[in-house]
Amino acid sequence: MIGIIGAMDVEVDGIKKNIEDLKTEEVSGIKFCTGKLFGKDVVVAKCGEGKVNSAMTTQTMIIKYNPDFIINSGVAGGLHPDMKVMDIAIAEDVCEHDFDISPLGYAPGFVPQVEDVKTNCDKSLNDKIENCAKKVCNSTIFKGTIASGDQFIASDEQRGRIKTLFGAIAAEMEGASIGHVCKLNNKRFTVLRVISDNADGSADMSFDVFAKKAADISINIMIEFVKSL
Ligand code: SAH
Repeated sequence: MIGIIGAMDVEVDGIKKNIEDLKTEEVSGIKFCTGKLFGKDVVVAKCGEGKVNSAMTTQTMIIKYNPDFIINSGVAGGLHPDMKVMDIAIAEDVCEHDFDISPLGYAPGFVPQVEDVKTNCDKSLNDKIENCAKKVCNSTIFKGTIASGDQFIASDEQRGRIKTLFGAIAAEMEGASIGHVCKLNNKRFTVLRVISDNADGSADMSFDVFAKKAADISINIMIEFVKSL
């Protein structure tokens, strides 16, 4: 079974509407949709924004449905200087940029239990997703660290901090917490994001205009990915 998590309705509705034999079960306010997506067993959930919502959704999905792997698909703020809206970010690894116990002698972003700053994503999933992305759109593909935190990043100061400390190519609010839970459950995972804004002073306006279009690209890549398996 393939597990797919998105934070917002725009990131999952376009996937859910293609599911056949759709069954929906609700746990802790999260709706888990199962069925066949182009012949493959899937479980798809909208988790809501942020690290706690995405972590609880991931843990429930693993316990209740035990998918072979989980993909987090959606939109993000671009941090790489060459990145444009609608470009693609594939996570080689993820980090929690707002986790900070550095006054106690730890590196910024070090997370107990994960016992590291970054969590690796699954390379074979990434290779497949990259091939599918090349098929369905002309956007430039960036691979690197995706940083998550419970903040909408919308200033040069915030984006500069995340780039400097973690070398991240994109910022969002769920990928690293999904990765955190997957790592502790020995579950393969990765994060695919399409850029909706540049995480700068105009990020709020850009997000409002481009989030839906960026989410649609991410959905198209996910559909191509599921078909390709
Ligand atoms: N649903 C609300 C809030 C969206 S929060 C609304 O529509 O207004 C932003 C969402 O998009 C999060 O799920 C996050 O993962 C992603 N995202 C896009 N750009 C981001 C940015 N610049 N900083 C942080 N998260 C961003």
